[in-house]
Formats: sequence, C-alpha cells, structure tokens
Amino acid sequence: MQRCETPAALRAALAGRGGRVALVPTMGSLHAGHLRLVERAREAADVVVASVFVNPLQFGRGEDYACYPRALEADAAQLGQAGADVLFAPSVETIYPHGYPPATTVQLAGELVDSLEGAHRPGHFTGVATVVNILFNLVQPAVAVLGEKDYQQLCVIRRMVADLGLAVEILGQPTVRAADGLALSSRNRYLGAVERAVAPRLYQALRALAERLTAGQRDFTALERQAVAGLRTAGFAPDYVAVRDPQLRAPAERGPWVLLAAARLGGTRLLDCLRVGAPAVNG
Ligand code: AMP
Repeated sequence: MQRCETPAALRAALAGRGGRVALVPTMGSLHAGHLRLVERAREAADVVVASVFVNPLQFGRGEDYACYPRALEADAAQLGQAGADVLFAPSVETIYPHGYPPATTVQLAGELVDSLEGAHRPGHFTGVATVVNILFNLVQPAVAVLGEKDYQQLCVIRRMVADLGLAVEILGQPTVRAADGLALSSRNRYLGAVERAVAPRLYQALRALAERLTAGQRDFTALERQAVAGLRTAGFAPDYVAVRDPQLRAPAERGPWVLLAAARLGGTRLLDCLRVGAPAVNG
C-alpha cells in the first residue's frame, strides 16, 4: 500500500494504476466497520483509496476535535491488510491550502440538513459536504463507500452528488456491530467500563421501537417519546430518537422506516440507526 500526504503524491500514485477508483473516506482510528467499507470498495473497483483526515470543519465549538483519537500507524497497518491500495492522509494545510476556515464551502439547505444531527450540530453537514467534495475532487473516484451508521450523512452526500452533478456512485454499507449490538465507532474508546456495559441499550431501544412498529403501533411521536424516556432511565442524555422514511422525510404508515438515535453517555455522544422493512439504500 502506498501512503500519500499531498495531492501531487496522490496523483502520482493513481497515475500508475488504471481502472475504476473507489474512495473510502474516514477520520481514522479504524475499526472493523471501516474495514468492511474497504472490502466493499475492493469488490466495486480496481483501485481502493482510503483517506484518513480528521476534518476540523465538521466539528462544532466545544466538540472533540482536539482529542479525537488519532492512530495513523495502526490505521495504515489495518488498511494494508484489508486490501487498500493507497492511503491518503493529508494535513489540514493540504486540504485547506489557502487558510482555515476555507472561503468556499458546500452548504446544503432544507430539512435534510436542518433536522436531527443538523439541529444538534449546527454547521456539521457543511463541514462534511465540503471535505467530501474536496476529497472527491482530489481522488476523482468512480465510487465512494460510506456507512449507514451515519445514515443522515449518507443521505446528505447522496443529495450533494445529485445536486452538483458529480460523477460518483455512492454505496452505503450496513452497520458493523460488536457482539452485544453496540455499533462500532472510533468514539467508543472514550467509554469507561460501566458506560461500555450500558452503551448497547441504545441499539436495544431501536430494536424495541422496531418491534412496536412491526406489531402495528403507528403513533410515531409517542413511540419516539417512549424510546427517549427509556434511554433517560438507562442513564443516557438523549438528543433524539426519530422514525423517518428512508429519505428522512416524515414516516409513512406502511413503512419502510429508518430509526435514528443520538444520545450522550457520560462525555461520549453515540449515534445509531436501524432500518425496518427498508430495502438497502443502494437499491
Ligand atoms: P468516521 O471515521 O467515523 O468518519 O467514519 C468513516 C466512515 O465509516 C463513514 O462512512 C461511517 O459511516 C463509516 N462507519 C463508521 N462506523 C461504522 C460501522 N460500525 N459500520 C459501518 N460503517 C461505519
């Protein structure tokens, strides 16, 4: 696996290899969920580029940018084993060469970015869309592979690609979980032992909500409230539990649905998502 830190090195690495390029954008501190994306990229393209970049533009004030876990050497070893061809790990100065913050950003408007994560993390999706657009321009992938764990992010990137006419196919991948159901996340390493034991309750809350929907309950607001109350009792500080349709609009009576939750456990903010009766987002 070739390691590159600059656009020039990246171009040189890609110039020597023909065929379809797949990009797996990450913030590093990799786990099996990220590596599953690399495997999917391997199936979808001839050349797999994984990027590791902790993007300051998508962190709000008071969020964990400074202490976000960084483990580049371990990441490189894992990516090599998983079959990545190129690791692109640029600096902040490389991604934002004319100073930070950049003068040009990609800002989406509307309910898709104003709700859920957007409501709790103002500016977050502008940071995500901007950096993903920059990475797409630098890598010029035919396909990019993203996780459904960050379901709203996946929808935002799909929308950006459609709105800007970008020639990138977006593949969404199901969430990889620990044996007890907790969605794997780089932030899980913030959890203390007691918190780690409680953390799977977030997924359990989504499962319980899914069962109620499957059993025929349709008072979506009451179901959301009930799930939020349950999480509070379990020790979380929930930001939201939401039932939506697969495009993140108001849920339809017949489904399919996507259940989304964000909750703080101690100092760690956890995110999860569960599809109910929904076809794969790629389908
Ligand atoms: P991050 O490094 O957290 O920004 O995530 C990089 C990519 O990995 C995003 O597309 C995430 O949705 C995806 N991802 C993170 N955790 C998981 C997981 N447990 N299963 C599948 N994909 C994941």
